Amino acid sequence: MQNQDLDYIIEVKNLSISFGEKQVLNNINFKVHQGDTLGIVGESGSGKSLTSLAIMGLLSPMAKISPESQILFRHHDKMVDLLQLSQQELQQIRGNEIGMIFQEPMTSLNPSLRCGEQVEEAIRLHQNLGRKEAKEKVISLFEQVKLPNPDRIYKAYPHELSGGQKQRVMIAMAISCEPKLLIADEPTTALDVTVQKATLDLLKELQTEHNMSMLFISHDLGVIANVCEEVLVMYRGDVVEQGNVETIFNHPKENYTKGLIACRP
Ligand code: ADP
Ligand code: MG
Repeated sequence: MQNQDLDYIIEVKNLSISFGEKQVLNNINFKVHQGDTLGIVGESGSGKSLTSLAIMGLLSPMAKISPESQILFRHHDKMVDLLQLSQQELQQIRGNEIGMIFQEPMTSLNPSLRCGEQVEEAIRLHQNLGRKEAKEKVISLFEQVKLPNPDRIYKAYPHELSGGQKQRVMIAMAISCEPKLLIADEPTTALDVTVQKATLDLLKELQTEHNMSMLFISHDLGVIANVCEEVLVMYRGDVVEQGNVETIFNHPKENYTKGLIACRP
């Protein structure tokens, strides 16, 4: 099934982005098959986050997407171009079918709201649930992401949680709509090494359990190899190499990829 063209959830075609005269993403192409995890690796400034923000429709207004660009997403068994949708249609798809986790949970959690209330608000925005059901759903999500003592976490403010716990709250929020696609942009980069592995294990587990497709972004090829089968290597807005992670890890063709592997700690 894996290579059948009809079996993919998202296809990014000829995606180019520029800021003024400066082109920062040059004709990017990739597909993520249903249930698979595609990794994107590359040093800082490669264009990884711009790629994910383009999919989410969250690029700054300064960013210009070239007219040839397409982001085809499977919606009701049809491929729709996210770049052609109205803000309202896009919001609907984004809210119901795509989840995203960012590097810094602090920047995406509101410091003045209790963690549970934030997830509850996100849920009630897109799902027709009463207060009580929404709260029950939050507690069950906190259990799914293995937060200790979900009732306590529900009432806690973000600053009362550890980095790893905050990231789990964000993961709970991202999967609350049961997304078909989960985008994780450097989800463990801001975490302590010991917490990183547990978070990666959780993401892998959730991905299998919910049969989600995942776009997993990291600057660390080792982390990518732990989570993904396929990888896209990016450098300064270009895809320099693409294929099976193990093959690329063990037999990189491009000097840039060799460098990425050599400079791992
Ligand atoms: P990565 O996530 O791989 O570290 P980004 O996708 O964030 O890289 O950025 C890719 C390139 O786009 C960088 O060179 C960055 O300087 C440039 N860039 C990102 N946002 C803006 C912006 N708002 N204005 C100008 N250049 C930007
Ligand atoms: Mg980034």
